[in-house]
Amino acid sequence: MRKSTLNAAEMRRFNRSLVLEHIRTGECSRIELAKKTGLTRAAISLIVDELLEEGILLQGSAISSSVGRRAVSLLLNPNAFYVVGLDISRTHYALGILDFCGKCLKQVKKRIDSRITAKDVLDEIKNEMLVMLENPPQGKLLGMGITAPGPLDVNEGKLLNPPNFEKWHGIPLVDYFKNILDCPVVLEKNSGALALAEKVYGAGRQYDSFFGLVVDTGIGGGFVNQGRLYRGSFGFGAEIGHTSVDCFGDMCDCGNNGCVELYASVPRILEWAVSLDSSFNDWKVIIDEAMAGNLLALNVAEREAEYLSCIITTIVQVLDVPAVVIFGDLTYKFELIQNLIREKVNSRILSRSLGGVEIKASRLTDAPAILASGNLIIENYIRAGDTI
Ligand SMILES: [Zn+2]
Repeated sequence: MRKSTLNAAEMRRFNRSLVLEHIRTGECSRIELAKKTGLTRAAISLIVDELLEEGILLQGSAISSSVGRRAVSLLLNPNAFYVVGLDISRTHYALGILDFCGKCLKQVKKRIDSRITAKDVLDEIKNEMLVMLENPPQGKLLGMGITAPGPLDVNEGKLLNPPNFEKWHGIPLVDYFKNILDCPVVLEKNSGALALAEKVYGAGRQYDSFFGLVVDTGIGGGFVNQGRLYRGSFGFGAEIGHTSVDCFGDMCDCGNNGCVELYASVPRILEWAVSLDSSFNDWKVIIDEAMAGNLLALNVAEREAEYLSCIITTIVQVLDVPAVVIFGDLTYKFELIQNLIREKVNSRILSRSLGGVEIKASRLTDAPAILASGNLIIENYIRAGDTI
């Protein structure tokens, strides 16, 4: 008896989650929902009525349904909930508030003072956050999502030992904020969270699976597998920046030799570029120059494309993903580096005869780091299918 009650509750949560997930990725009617989910019209109506009553859904305009009748579209109510998003990088933190549809309502981005301790930085963030929450948006606070460079312990909610981030090693970020906010707080690697946000709001929408490649002060990855973020057995999955491109190369802080991060992260490629021409101290300058016909600048872009093609080829050979989405500074006038990478990768991968892999730039433009962190909580809510 007890088991069947549990099963019914689980089924209800599963169906509720399914409905929310479909509406989240695009307005649709009850008829379309029934078609997409395989649930009966009666079951859909029950769930939708409940979500409308709770204020989680809104009814939109009448749309033409596939069976020719006019049907009312359903959409998430942006004001049902709000979330706090915090991204901590090696140089800055970005803090903000998002509505339930991922729109950034408030945000602040500040440089981290390298002379102060991690605890002092957290206290500064806390004060910024409390000021933001003095005048909260409509709805209920759903939770706080935090992103930071990996490796980190998602279950314990703390940073482990990210290279070049020594002051933050072992910092229990989740506990710190749980003591301030009375809501769920979660932590995720920034590159994984960006890939997950791209799946919902950006270039990843059209793929069930793809790989997100973040190239900034380091190199990170996020593997979205059948709509879910793949973390691996111990949470270290997709750490593509610490894949060796030269097994006789320099020792990396991670303990491996010749990691691609040592050559192709933005500071490292700029270091090499400046040795060729002192004006090449910014990726945008290099791309502008390369596009204007400067062969030395084109040489730098070619070198970066070669490193990234090397790891993207590995990614595709192992995971067989149809697309790789690139985040960060490299997306500036992306066509040049995109063509270079696409050509190299698609001449090397085994699946090249089947159409090859797409190389895309992230389409997250509005405060992507805050969106990625806050989205973790929205994602958890929708996946759980719970009522609050
Ligand atoms: Zn490494």
